[in-house]
Amino acid sequence: MIVSFGSIALDITRTPFLTIKDILGGSCTYFSLASSLFFKTGIVGIVGSDFPENYLEIFRNRLDLSGFKIEKSKKTFKYDSSFGNDLSIRTTIRTELNVYKDFIPVLPYEYRQARYIYLGNSDPKQQLQVIDQLEKPRYIFMDTIDFWIRTERSKVYDVIQRVNGLFLNEEEIKLLCETNNILIGAYKLLDLNIDLLVVKMGPKGAVMFTKNNIFINPSYLNTEVVDPTGAGDSFAGGFVGHLVKKDKIDDKTLKESLIYGNILGSFAIERFGPERLISLTLNEIDERYRKHCSMVFF
Ligand code: AMP
Repeated sequence: MIVSFGSIALDITRTPFLTIKDILGGSCTYFSLASSLFFKTGIVGIVGSDFPENYLEIFRNRLDLSGFKIEKSKKTFKYDSSFGNDLSIRTTIRTELNVYKDFIPVLPYEYRQARYIYLGNSDPKQQLQVIDQLEKPRYIFMDTIDFWIRTERSKVYDVIQRVNGLFLNEEEIKLLCETNNILIGAYKLLDLNIDLLVVKMGPKGAVMFTKNNIFINPSYLNTEVVDPTGAGDSFAGGFVGHLVKKDKIDDKTLKESLIYGNILGSFAIERFGPERLISLTLNEIDERYRKHCSMVFF
């Protein structure tokens, strides 16, 4: 099983065309809905009494919920953000931690035995609490976001030193490494002894760094871009999902995983919130994977 820890949120997403309130969101949500298309995924996370029944139903249909909690006396994590005209730049309006504020994640027995773990963007103190409970991890992946880099920078570095793979977007690596040059930032991070770094660059695609190799893959050319929220976590869900399904960590599988990441990201942005991930099938994913490869390789 893949264990996914991170935020489960009610988002307010504002685009120039539409604003939707209390839409299902969160790093754990997007990642798990993507990874569960490839492999059984269990979530560690918490919501409050305001979390709608229809969202719970989505979770029940797709995920293992033995690490999931509802805290009746508190409110769900909330994230309010808006996108500019070309839907590429996101501005955070408000982050309310609510139920995550003093949350101490507790992993059930089966989760503590998991080999593959994803720590989606969340409080780095809680990411460390999850790591401390793992008994035999083979590969731990993490992600973070500007909020945590600004408020808990040294704790974010503490987590990086205990994981194998790191997902960041372009702005996050620049902020974290205090450089405008992605390559310089990447080498700084690889020096911290991680095995893998993936930098997501939105419509420009993604670049993957391992100790010996760099691999670049462009984004899938998509005419439908409705809401980029969650593209990064869905990317990670496709990447990790494929890798775990193969249960191999070699150059070929990592390259395929990067492409699956791009493909899942391209689906996630086609509808508001995680709607497209809910209706998506493996056949659609594989068909787009093949089409994308035929445009990229010769
Ligand atoms: P992404 O677009 O992949 O970077 O992730 C978007 C999701 O991250 C949204 O659905 C938010 O609910 C969630 N999110 C935003 N800020 C934070 C934060 N500071 N901690 C945890 N999750 C967050």
